[in-house]
Amino acid sequence: MTNTPDTAYRVLARKYRPETFADLVGQEAMVRTLKNAFEADRIAQAFVMTGIRGTGKTTTARIIAKGINCIGPDGTGGPTTEPCGVCENCVAIMEGRHVDVMEMDAASRTGVGDIREIIESVHYRAASARYKIYIIDEVHMLSTSAFNALLKTLEEPPAHVKFIFATTEIRKVPVTVLSRCQRFDLRRIEPEDMIGMLQRIAAGEHAEIAEDALALITRAAEGSARDATSLLDQAISHGAGETTVEQVRAMLGLADRGRVLDLYQMIMR
Ligand SMILES: [Zn+2]
Repeated sequence: MTNTPDTAYRVLARKYRPETFADLVGQEAMVRTLKNAFEADRIAQAFVMTGIRGTGKTTTARIIAKGINCIGPDGTGGPTTEPCGVCENCVAIMEGRHVDVMEMDAASRTGVGDIREIIESVHYRAASARYKIYIIDEVHMLSTSAFNALLKTLEEPPAHVKFIFATTEIRKVPVTVLSRCQRFDLRRIEPEDMIGMLQRIAAGEHAEIAEDALALITRAAEGSARDATSLLDQAISHGAGETTVEQVRAMLGLADRGRVLDLYQMIMR
């Protein structure tokens, strides 16, 4: 997680966005597989990340992109699962401005023309990084003809190119594309991991929040780290002193179930 001192207010979800594999909460299986692959120098040509929203698919894609292109603080390092975060590649990727790391959202660019643009650019070597990386978010939104065009490139990808796809709906991605990708299923984050993460963020913000309030936020977030973090963000900016479970309940707009039931029974009588 970032520890950069910030005077300007930043939303917590951005401030605490994981920047290394070690920061990723509750995705140990994926991290282990990636570590093994990187150490054996067998980095897949294409990856696909799937999972519900807010489980860190695009964040993971960026971390992989950094790991593949990191050159280390002294500029001599190779691909690593512990990107240094300080080399020019790491910094530019983190800020989303690396010329060799293209991020596109298939939800807004789904046409075959857009894919053709990509395909034409894959043959040019990377400008400064080790690999050119194409991150395509919500890849299931691509049109059939766009998928067909992409498939041709996946069948014979240039050695200097890697693809990282992310999707919430893996069943809508053609099997022909999936079969050429290393697939990772990002799990919903378990409640205990989520509470631990929220506690670390609250401590980092010098905010006090009751344990049962954190449990309520965790339940409302349904396994999404991003949702949990933004709920925490709202909760602690509302509360002066310790944030209580009542404040969080009010914030979430949960009706007091007991009172609703009383009312119902009264009507029935
Ligand atoms: Zn680096």
